[in-house]
Amino acid sequence: MELKDIEVKENFDIKNMTTFKVGGIVKKVYFPANQQEFVFLLKTIKNPIILGGCSNIIFSSQGYDGEVISTIKMDNIMVRGTHVLAECGVKGPMASQSAYNASLSGFEFMIGFPGTIGGNVYMNAGAHGQNISDSFIKACLFDTKSKEVVYIEKDKMDFGYRKSLLQNGKYILLGAEFELKKSSKEDIKALMDRNLEFRKNIQPSLACPNAGSVFKNPENDSAGRLLDKAGVKELCADNVKVWEKHANFIVNTGDATSENVLELIYKMYMTVKETYTIELEPEIRFIGKRNKREEEICKQIYKKTQK
Ligand SMILES: Cc1cc2nc3c(=O)[nH]c(=O)nc-3n(C[C@H](O)[C@H](O)[C@H](O)COP(=O)(O)OP(=O)(O)OC[C@H]3O[C@@H](n4cnc5c(N)ncnc54)[C@H](O)[C@@H]3O)c2cc1C
Repeated sequence: MELKDIEVKENFDIKNMTTFKVGGIVKKVYFPANQQEFVFLLKTIKNPIILGGCSNIIFSSQGYDGEVISTIKMDNIMVRGTHVLAECGVKGPMASQSAYNASLSGFEFMIGFPGTIGGNVYMNAGAHGQNISDSFIKACLFDTKSKEVVYIEKDKMDFGYRKSLLQNGKYILLGAEFELKKSSKEDIKALMDRNLEFRKNIQPSLACPNAGSVFKNPENDSAGRLLDKAGVKELCADNVKVWEKHANFIVNTGDATSENVLELIYKMYMTVKETYTIELEPEIRFIGKRNKREEEICKQIYKKTQK
């Protein structure tokens, strides 16, 4: 295999691939079609950025002068009895639907948000009392140090609230195996519908570009509750505002830049800090080159997590 055999877009504006519709020009974006191509890229390219559904990121408007690998074409999913094997690029709603088709329960929470299996495992995504770690059996990973494909079982995945082993940067998820529970299609459908209905009432749809919850919940509290009580629903910055029905969401109201988004996140962060002396931790990750102001803000708000 050679690099030229793999789909690539050069000087690609990544903005429209993100759910926030914020981004810039990336030197090269590769779209591997299968695990073999993905592993070849991971062995060949130095320190690529890996992206799935781009639904939990602020991509820099300054872009990125390097290589990005998008997993979205790696979307095979297979059901064997109660086990589900999914490639990293499978979107959550598709996984949810496949589980429903096989009368399997455990993926109903993924119906309402656009993360891929890779991003969902990276974040240990969850909603409505279910998390991706609940049904997780094992991961097929690329080890960026040894350059080998390895298998790691759930107990070594370091899962916690919006946390997994993948966040230490050593491993890239190629695929994962899950074990779900047999249930009736009727019950599964009812839960999926309930989850969708709940979102419709309080969260912005993707027609209002956003990247899900801005901050993680602090221990024993809710970021949305603190933000709301601190009065952030009034806040906005150029081209971005806090969503009126949920204080932990920001929507892009025009042609927002990454700096616009960070300015608003910073205002929200400072409002809660000054009101409650609580420093919220962003759930959304910043990717790409930072300008001077972005560097200042990131240093402050990501001091506990991303550098
Ligand atoms: C409307 C809306 C609602 C949402 N609701 C929820 C919710 O209820 N619960 C929830 O948990 N989240 C929610 N989110 C946030 C988001 O969908 C999740 O965080 C999701 O897990 C991100 O997946 P992704 O594929 O989009 O990852 P991306 O945004 O593409 O990437 C996120 C991180 O994962 C890493 N990554 C992606 N793929 C891989 C891989 N194969 N191997 C290693 N690292 C990888 C990236 O490098 C990046 O650091 C919501 C988002 C939106 C827009």
